[in-house]
Amino acid sequence: MQESSLKGLYLKELRDIYDAEKQITKALPKMAKAASSSQLRQGFEMHLDQTKNHVTRLEQIFEALDESPKGESCDGMKGLLEEGSEVMEEDLDPEALDAALISAAQRVEHYEIAAYSSLRTWANVLGEKQAVSLLQETLDEEKETDQKLTQLAEKVNVKAAAAGGR
Ligand code: FE
Repeated sequence: MQESSLKGLYLKELRDIYDAEKQITKALPKMAKAASSSQLRQGFEMHLDQTKNHVTRLEQIFEALDESPKGESCDGMKGLLEEGSEVMEEDLDPEALDAALISAAQRVEHYEIAAYSSLRTWANVLGEKQAVSLLQETLDEEKETDQKLTQLAEKVNVKAAAAGGR
């Protein structure tokens, strides 16, 4: 009984992150376009390719479970991405906008890291070995992206502070 309810939660949250990843594939091209640092733009473009892979990995998990990936809408990601697009509409200096874009992207990554950490743990408890390794691969890429954004923020935020006097 307990196992079946955890399995139900696992499926629901897999569908939730599937919808979140789909939302991210639509948001990243806009974020790349808004970025003025070429490194940041390339970072967003690279993460778009990774995100498409995250979608594919989730589809593999659903296929093995003989379940549909569709059916949930991730309100958390919707809110985070809405806040991100609001920032793009503000009248910010290009350097300050880059700093805001990095911050918005890191919020997205932290949400995904939390979701994938739980999913990987549940897959492990449920004995879904193939899913554990697929979820771990994605989790590692989200963490790596977060670290790259932190490194980039150090450069970009210094530029933003220097531009503050304009
Ligand atoms: Fe992702």
